[in-house]
Amino acid sequence: MNLQLLPPVHALQNDKMTRHWIQNDGIPETELVKWFKEELASVRQDISDSPHLFSRREHIIDHILTQTEKRVKNFRTFRLYKVLNGTGTVLHTNLGRARLSESAIERVAETSRHYSNLEYQTDEGIRGSRHSILQHLLRELTGAEDAMVVNNNAAAVYLILRGLAKNKEVIISRGELVEIGGSFRISTIMEESDALLREVGTTNKTHAFDYEEAISEKTAMIMKVHTSNFKTVGFTADVETKSLSQLTSAYDNVLIYEDLGSGSLYPFTHEGIGEEPVVKEAIKNGADIVSFSGDKLLGGPQAGIISGRKEIINRLKKHPLARVLRVDKMTLAALEQTLQMYIHGDPTDIPTVRDIKMSQEEVEKKAALFMGETSGWPLHCELVNVESQVGGGTMPVVKLPSKAVKFKSGTFTAGEFSHALRQTKIPVIGRVIEDHFHLDFRTITYDEIPELLTQCKEALTILNAEEAISKNGH
Ligand SMILES: *Cc1c(COP(=O)(O)O)cnc(C)c1O
Repeated sequence: MNLQLLPPVHALQNDKMTRHWIQNDGIPETELVKWFKEELASVRQDISDSPHLFSRREHIIDHILTQTEKRVKNFRTFRLYKVLNGTGTVLHTNLGRARLSESAIERVAETSRHYSNLEYQTDEGIRGSRHSILQHLLRELTGAEDAMVVNNNAAAVYLILRGLAKNKEVIISRGELVEIGGSFRISTIMEESDALLREVGTTNKTHAFDYEEAISEKTAMIMKVHTSNFKTVGFTADVETKSLSQLTSAYDNVLIYEDLGSGSLYPFTHEGIGEEPVVKEAIKNGADIVSFSGDKLLGGPQAGIISGRKEIINRLKKHPLARVLRVDKMTLAALEQTLQMYIHGDPTDIPTVRDIKMSQEEVEKKAALFMGETSGWPLHCELVNVESQVGGGTMPVVKLPSKAVKFKSGTFTAGEFSHALRQTKIPVIGRVIEDHFHLDFRTITYDEIPELLTQCKEALTILNAEEAISKNGH
């Protein structure tokens, strides 16, 4: 038999094709090693069946690399793929923020599979406007006269500043000149829009008289930015929309614009969660116009929603930028269904709302189900208390009591386990707390538990393979 012709794994690992797959195709080395071993086992079988199948080691290497190439092609065909979120952070911006509800996903599928009345009035047989599709729902939910939807809240901020305050002054408190993340700074966007920033007050305190002294004939609006991703504590003061509205009532053309950031439609405060105002309150308190995200607390698709006085929204709808920033039918379909759930359905069926509200007991049930399947694993699992975050830059100080599975191993570190879990077929993202890897089950659904178990087993195989390789001195 020619078994001595079989190449060692490291000969395959050192091949330039292997380096190429790792570097260009993003295939994890551990995955390639696993495939090589499987291919070697199959060649070994082939050789024992027909000893003269291969006459040279090079032929075997070529054969295995050809087989591996097929696997490379099938491995993660997409560059955007599903991951399992074990961080407990519900609105994880890096992991795509809000998950859509099944019914919203169905609406997206239906609307994209067929033609739709996106810009067509079926009763009259004439052209319609995509802006009118969500008007009635948004009017009801925000209490504003009119509304429109653009690509995201950053786009909404830009359109509002450009459309309503170009070459005019926008008064804003120094305490609200925030950076939202992803390099979105209010001051930068303002500069880009050609609105003139007029800063008032100080970082910790701004009073009504600060705003009043700054108002002049150059003023287009007072902008309030919801400082959603941090909290100033201690000696602080800011001015409520209500007082600003009293202030501006004496002037003809000074608008109040509130960038609400997350824009909650669900009263989380009633459940004792955070201090996020619902959008309706901002409008009731006298904001002429507000904007907020579709994929933060609202739990819908990426979008920026602008609500406010009819005459102002009309000006924005007619602005050339409205065409540049318009949303597509899939967004409108998902948003329509999500908004409807707030009015006619149960908002706690929206995954974002459901997961933020989820009690520690409910999270524990899922974690326990997972734990029940881990007996016999070469690592210790323990159910522990953790705190999850809302994420997406919203409710920064809110800590949601949650449950996690904590993994302990004598053979590999938290970093190694975390790394291996990111190399599996469906990558799993967790948290390392005090040198231990944790999976917070707030953001794992019941449906995901079986595949989470599979990924964990795969990660353990990867780690064993690595250990075996290092034991062999490679
Ligand atoms: C998140 C946020 C934005 C940006 O919203 P996107 O939907 O991410 O574009 C703008 N302003 C505030 C206050 C925010 O919190």
